[in-house]
Amino acid sequence: MKAVVYKRPFTVAVEDVEKPRIHHPNDVIVKVTSTAICGSDLHMYEGRTTAEPGTVFGHENMGIIEETGQGVTLLKEGDRVVMPFNVACGFCANCVDGFTAFCQTVNPGFAGGAYGGVAMGPWPGGQAEYLRVPYADFNCLKLPPGNEHEIDFTLLADIFPTGYHGCELAEVRPGDSVAVYGGGPVGLMAAYSALLRGAKKVFVVDRVTERLDKAREIGAVPIDFSEGDAVEQIKEQTGGVGTDKGVDAVGYQARGRETDREQPATVLNSLVDTVRATGALGVPGLYVPTDPGGPDEQAKHGMLLVSIGKLFEKGLRLGTGQCSVKRYNRLLRDLIIEGRAKPGFVVSHELPLDQAPSAYEKFDQRIEGCTTVVLHP
Ligand code: NAD
Ligand code: ZN
Ligand code: ZN
Repeated sequence: MKAVVYKRPFTVAVEDVEKPRIHHPNDVIVKVTSTAICGSDLHMYEGRTTAEPGTVFGHENMGIIEETGQGVTLLKEGDRVVMPFNVACGFCANCVDGFTAFCQTVNPGFAGGAYGGVAMGPWPGGQAEYLRVPYADFNCLKLPPGNEHEIDFTLLADIFPTGYHGCELAEVRPGDSVAVYGGGPVGLMAAYSALLRGAKKVFVVDRVTERLDKAREIGAVPIDFSEGDAVEQIKEQTGGVGTDKGVDAVGYQARGRETDREQPATVLNSLVDTVRATGALGVPGLYVPTDPGGPDEQAKHGMLLVSIGKLFEKGLRLGTGQCSVKRYNRLLRDLIIEGRAKPGFVVSHELPLDQAPSAYEKFDQRIEGCTTVVLHP
């Protein structure tokens, strides 16, 4: 079958690889219909990880079940399903508590597993014609048959729940004002989720015009940080107080305003300044324990200069971590089915699998208004 394979930094290729097969009675094989390229794929694409050449990418997958293992109970051939990017067992202590991103079974020695990711366990990705899903009864979310809402449902694998998770970590309530740093797919989904949760005003900080335009389209207030300090711009629009809540949807690849160099702590520090005392911060943006491409010795070891003193002084709460997609995907699916959520606005390109190499290149450079790319194998 055809799959998107990592070759070396800044190069992926569509190659023939072995078709996955059932290894365990609770596996299914899914014929992938849609699979998105994610900001997290770019960390590997850019060679910032130890991803081995030959890795099949893709953790945001949906499709139709082609084959079921003998132990599968809830699913049958022909079911339309979407899989959380997390691979999880469903029965370890963390899964039982709802923290499937920290499953202790699927990737021993490391917190949690995922498809197509370096250090995330032995689970090849779904930017391919077929995907093997382990613990399938637990990991597949059933969707209505047909092809309605295909793009909206694809986003249930990661970015819609992850954006929502940012709001959950930030404790966004009706009537809150919220600052979302980052207008990429995750930031736009966080802003959209904040509005779904009844926020009164949502700011989205970025400097990419198309992304700020999308933020405006959904009813958020765009803040262009290339035009002036984002904290000051937001304070001006909140009576000098700042927002009630804040979401970091940028992560360690944050750029400085003046230098355009990578400044991994800049967004965390801006959030500490932006959010009013006793507010809360949600950090779905990724920070890593080691980053060979980090701008200084400390950053290479995941250590950043964050104004923890001010965080403490303001009594801010801070929530972090990978999204346990299963906590949210069923409820968000039902919002889509009922027409109450249409996250698909974030998708800028739909392409056949063959075009993955150029799609990666454009997405990496954020050219041609690339926000989210969905591949159809
Ligand atoms: P992205 O790279 O497409 O978007 C990040 C955006 O941040 C870009 O548009 C960039 O212009 C903007 N940006 C850079 N510096 C900034 C600054 N100083 N202030 C404001 N904006 C700035 O990435 P994405 O796909 O939206 O993902 C965002 C983050 O979320 C990544 O770190 C990704 O790895 C992470 N992520 C986490 C989870 C999770 O489970 N927690 C899941 C998916 C993605
Ligand atoms: Zn993703
Ligand atoms: Zn588990």
